[in-house]
Amino acid sequence: MDLGIAGRKALVCAASEGLGKACAWSLAMNGVHVVITGRTPAKLEAAKAEIERDSGLEVITVAGDITTEVGREAALAACPAPDILINNAGGPPPGDFRDWTRDDWIKAVDANMLTPIELIKATVDGMIARKFGRIVNITSSAVKAPIDVLGLSNGARAGLTGFVAGIARKTVEHNVTINGLLPGPFETARLRGTTEATAKKTGQSFEKVWEARKLTNPAKRYGTPFEFGEYCAFICSAQAGYITGQNLLIDGGNFPGTL
Ligand code: NAP
Repeated sequence: MDLGIAGRKALVCAASEGLGKACAWSLAMNGVHVVITGRTPAKLEAAKAEIERDSGLEVITVAGDITTEVGREAALAACPAPDILINNAGGPPPGDFRDWTRDDWIKAVDANMLTPIELIKATVDGMIARKFGRIVNITSSAVKAPIDVLGLSNGARAGLTGFVAGIARKTVEHNVTINGLLPGPFETARLRGTTEATAKKTGQSFEKVWEARKLTNPAKRYGTPFEFGEYCAFICSAQAGYITGQNLLIDGGNFPGTL
């Protein structure tokens, strides 16, 4: 399928590895010029080389923390008028809500709610004026089915989801859509990190926890970043202009409900 987005410009945040990088890769493979961000320059350069090799398009990198004003300004300076905005950042740490301070909450809300809202604010009017825009917020399956130890993520992402539900119905008449893409368990550094933490806490080996968790999913496997990126590219396609305000799960069928 030709996604009809060749030549478009995308700002893909937090995209030097994992799901963000996969989105940038799939967009570039469909002819989109991507600007990718991340905090670690070496990882960014490796991602740039891989995407350029596979797509044949130049990739621009911006090193910085997207959850800070300085980081967002640098990203927007490199891509001031994106047609596609992929909002992403690292997820907050797991824990017990009794241990979380106001500062922990502010950090989570800053990263997973206010950062995407600021980037939407900076780019959406240009998209409306140009009559094309696709905004995808990478959130989590925890938006639909909260995970107890991820309270910071549940809370911050629910705030973003509620905000987007309001504005996504205001932009769609201008061919600007805003959707959430909700990953279940995907094979990335983040999943390996949380598995490592569980293994340590429970005194089991990494392999044992990794394999056991996999089998709890109806697909009996983790999702691949490639599957996530391709779904994202479709949501950003010309054909997807009638999909807005949705929270789209991609989780191997793990969510047990019908809706
Ligand atoms: P990942 O493999 O750890 O990759 C995260 C990427 O974001 C890296 O490129 C990282 O590079 C960059 N990054 C992190 N914090 C950043 C910041 N403040 N500013 C700029 N770049 C930043 O994570 P992932 O698995 O792809 O997860 C992406 C998002 O999906 C996270 O919010 C995560 O919570 C959520 N999620 C993931 C899963 C899963 O199973 N993988 C499930 C549910 C939700 P640097 O560290 O160099 O900055």
